[in-house]
Amino acid sequence: MDYTEFSREQLLDRIKSLEMLTQELLNEKEQETRLEYAWTGNLGHWYWNIKTNEVTFNPLKVTTLGYDKSEIPEHVTYQFFTDKLHPEDFQKAMDAMRDHLYGKADVYEIEYRIKAKDGTFKWYYDRGRITQYDNGKPAFLAGIVFDITEKKETQLELEYKNRILSEISSIDGLTKIGNHRTLIEHLKAEIAETSRTSSPLSIALFDIDDFKKVNDSKGHVYGDQVLVDLASIITKSIRGTDFAGRYGGEEFMVIFPNTTLSVASKISERIRQAVEDYNFVDGLRVTISGGTSQYNNETITELVHSADTKLYTAKRNGKNQIVSDAKF
Ligand code: GH3
Ligand code: MG
Ligand code: MG
Repeated sequence: MDYTEFSREQLLDRIKSLEMLTQELLNEKEQETRLEYAWTGNLGHWYWNIKTNEVTFNPLKVTTLGYDKSEIPEHVTYQFFTDKLHPEDFQKAMDAMRDHLYGKADVYEIEYRIKAKDGTFKWYYDRGRITQYDNGKPAFLAGIVFDITEKKETQLELEYKNRILSEISSIDGLTKIGNHRTLIEHLKAEIAETSRTSSPLSIALFDIDDFKKVNDSKGHVYGDQVLVDLASIITKSIRGTDFAGRYGGEEFMVIFPNTTLSVASKISERIRQAVEDYNFVDGLRVTISGGTSQYNNETITELVHSADTKLYTAKRNGKNQIVSDAKF
């Protein structure tokens, strides 16, 4: 419609009439969506006129945050909402909107935390798209927003519990280092990496000498403490890229990525010496034997077996020693 011939009165009437129509349509729209998605935490539609930077929305979007309807300014801008975003979600929201406005994403879709009046945060799921263009430029966006706080909190709690569960199942309960399962997983991954890069990979297997005697003479509680201390000596002696775990009862394994047999054997010998020098609980002295092997395109079982054979040789040769093919 051409408004240029309209008088001021006529224009004001026209605006008023359009505003009334808008309000009617909005009310109707909200009724519809509330009926259709009543169970999803739906907060209704929003519309953003980019040129005038005016956002029209169902007041639920703001009253859910604890604000009274009277606290909503007459002219609500895009920033009225983005100012309330959680600092960690702000950039993500900006990027999502920018990606849509510049045609990189078909829709604007995001989950973010938004600050309620009492300072707590609600989780909103927001989804919208450009509905009108002006000279090829985005002019108008329409979207729908949901309060997903409850669902999100349940999801985050589940994720947290899953993380704890996966930690419990991958860490040895007594020594708090990796367990057998984690060792094998690590070793598999390192073998794959070595096959790709051709870098050397070595392992060491350690076993406490005459540990049965410790248990028999001192009791299992002392035996357990020796295991805890030994795990600590081993982890302190290796590099951040190495990985130590409890392979079984009183046996420990260290995986040395990117390490030749000779270096792995030197580190293993250092560990053996540290154990020999250590004053365990109640002045107990304990020694360990070890076997080291370098990966040579065999299977994981063969690799572990190879280290185990050397460990057995160390036991047979009198214990308290590391056996490998390398000279050190
Ligand atoms: P060797 O020098 O030949 O290795 O002799 P050893 O006595 O260490 O070996 P053996 O295999 O005969 O005994 C291993 C002992 O380790 C027996 C077992 O009770 C003890 N052990 C295994 N796991 C634990 C544990 O979690 N806590 C305690 N306290 N002892 C454990
Ligand atoms: Mg053993
Ligand atoms: Mg033993």
